[in-house]
Amino acid sequence: MNILVINCGSSSLKFQLIDSVAEEVLAKGLCERIGIEGSRLVYQPEGGEKEITEEPMPTHSKAVGMVLDALINEKTGVIGSLDEVGAVGHRIVHGGEKFASSTVITDEVIKAIEECNDLAPLHNPANLIGIEACKEHMPNTPMVGVFDTAFHQTMPEEAYIYGLPYEYYEKYKVRRYGFHGTSHSYVSKRVAEILNQPYESQKTIVCHIGNGASICAVNGGKSVDTSMGLTPLEGLIMGTRSGDIDPAIMEFIANKENMSVAEVMNVLNKKSGVYGISGTTSDFRDLMEAKEKGDKRAELALHVFIYRIIKYVGAYAAAMNGVDNIVFTAGIGENNAYVREKVCESLTYLGVSIDKDQNEKREDEMIISKDDSKVKVLVVATNEELKIARETLALVK
Ligand code: AMP
Repeated sequence: MNILVINCGSSSLKFQLIDSVAEEVLAKGLCERIGIEGSRLVYQPEGGEKEITEEPMPTHSKAVGMVLDALINEKTGVIGSLDEVGAVGHRIVHGGEKFASSTVITDEVIKAIEECNDLAPLHNPANLIGIEACKEHMPNTPMVGVFDTAFHQTMPEEAYIYGLPYEYYEKYKVRRYGFHGTSHSYVSKRVAEILNQPYESQKTIVCHIGNGASICAVNGGKSVDTSMGLTPLEGLIMGTRSGDIDPAIMEFIANKENMSVAEVMNVLNKKSGVYGISGTTSDFRDLMEAKEKGDKRAELALHVFIYRIIKYVGAYAAAMNGVDNIVFTAGIGENNAYVREKVCESLTYLGVSIDKDQNEKREDEMIISKDDSKVKVLVVATNEELKIARETLALVK
């Protein structure tokens, strides 16, 4: 069955058409600047050239229409008709406490997702728009929602309750949820498969470090703690997000800089992290280059970023009373050998010993620890789209 995987943002829409039996991508791409001037579709059939179509996309419905037209296009399309799309899998950012697993999308499910909107006001409404747009074009095709938060619903209370008045949890569901669940779940499972160990027996720490970054403690296949919280702002230092800070800083900066709460939030989300510290970039390629050239602020940003990861890994090894595997994934985790080496250098107390030559390689899946390392260290390329396609197939089969 072919499954169309959709990741819909407020002005963008990423897609992949996946043959879920062969687990092969047939075509992928994205619509950019939806509802804004200069919109375009980037479409790439597997093994073919990238095609860019610049055309106004005033709505997401128009964007989905263009994607579907591209998929069935006589010349560059990969399927004969839309009947060959067996199901659509949607990435949904926030499922609150309502969704502990993926689910077939019905009218009730749409209502329940809407009820989570105030927990993710930037993301969930956009995800819902994507669902509606697909419904318009393919009213009879089953659709499935796969939630970023669902994998973490197994966290115990002590990991998800904040030290706040309990009534905020009761009234508003203010608690830690965690994100990147699809990635943490996919990658931790792959680790068990690669090492030929039962998933249920393994204690694995997943370091999903990309522009957004989070760490997850997976014990016996279940998320028991993760570094993001009510929103993706908590935890690690990220490309432009601050991660953990003393909350009193908000009032302090608001007073000093004469800012509103919304303005301070904007700083914490978009102008902090390694971008804020370096003062120049949120991109680790640029950051590494600047460090090589002797830029001290870039070097500091890199080391603050690395130090926070080291602390979280230590905390999660403690939370699980041990760790069997540590795995790096996402843009930085998969590509940046320096970050991996520096993190692992500070984990020798856990029994981590990495093979520096192996760590320098670039492979989608590799073990970078030495054979006698007590804790195995791996790099596994994440594949959230494949995971969404698998979950969708399982539910609509
Ligand atoms: P992500 O959000 O997972 O796409 O990760 C984005 C981050 O990964 C950026 O900081 C990039 O600089 C970094 N990154 C992505 N690809 C590479 C690469 N090939 N080499 C080095 N860094 C990379």
